[in-house]
Amino acid sequence: MKKFIAGNWKMNGSLAANEKLVHELLDRVGRPSCDVAVCAPSPYLSQLQCLLANQDVIALGAQNVSQHESGAYTGDVSAAMLREFGVRYAIVGHSERRQHQAETDTNVAIKAKRALEAGITPIVCVGETQRERDEGLTDYIVRRQLAAVVHLVGPCISEIVLAYEPVWAIGTGKTATPEQAQQVHAILRKQLQAATEKAHTIRILYGGSMNASNAATLMTQPDIDGGLIGGASLKADDFLAIIGVAK
Ligand code: PEP
Repeated sequence: MKKFIAGNWKMNGSLAANEKLVHELLDRVGRPSCDVAVCAPSPYLSQLQCLLANQDVIALGAQNVSQHESGAYTGDVSAAMLREFGVRYAIVGHSERRQHQAETDTNVAIKAKRALEAGITPIVCVGETQRERDEGLTDYIVRRQLAAVVHLVGPCISEIVLAYEPVWAIGTGKTATPEQAQQVHAILRKQLQAATEKAHTIRILYGGSMNASNAATLMTQPDIDGGLIGGASLKADDFLAIIGVAK
């Protein structure tokens, strides 16, 4: 399966910084062996749509999508609006949103469904906290988080991208070992297999302090189909190095 590297810029960037970064990426990325996307903050989607026009190497992603279709939801951005700006992917259920915006498994599942309905591929994030891991709850947590999405979207589950992001590894420099990550990816793959015959075509990304030095080893694991990259996606050298080893 073709690997997928998605950058999550989080709440970083500026018009000037985005332009510099995207130009560097486009100048140097060539024809990578993997699919690539950058997930930018909403106000910059129009800028990114222009910067990424007339090429098909780097796709545009958003970092969230409203669970509502339209109407009185001040501050929300709908899937249809994202689509108008050329958005192909939307991260849903990132742990920072589950934590700071109190998003529940159900909210995340509805968001995934809204994205799918608009022709946007949701990048559904699941992952356990350090405490949950210490208590032996990792499998239960990730399975519960994925189950909510499987339950709501049904057979369309084959259209999602899944990202395993242990919360304790995000932005901490504390990467999961390839074995730890593979163990969870295998559990998720099994759960997908129970839901669809196409489970082998669903990309399961690893996210959590993935960088140029650990990416290659992580991606040699049988069920790790790419990466969701936070910090390292903001530096052209680092992001390109990760793209370069995603084969
Ligand atoms: C993320 O935000 O999805 C992420 C994986 O962040 P980082 O790579 O910085 O740990």
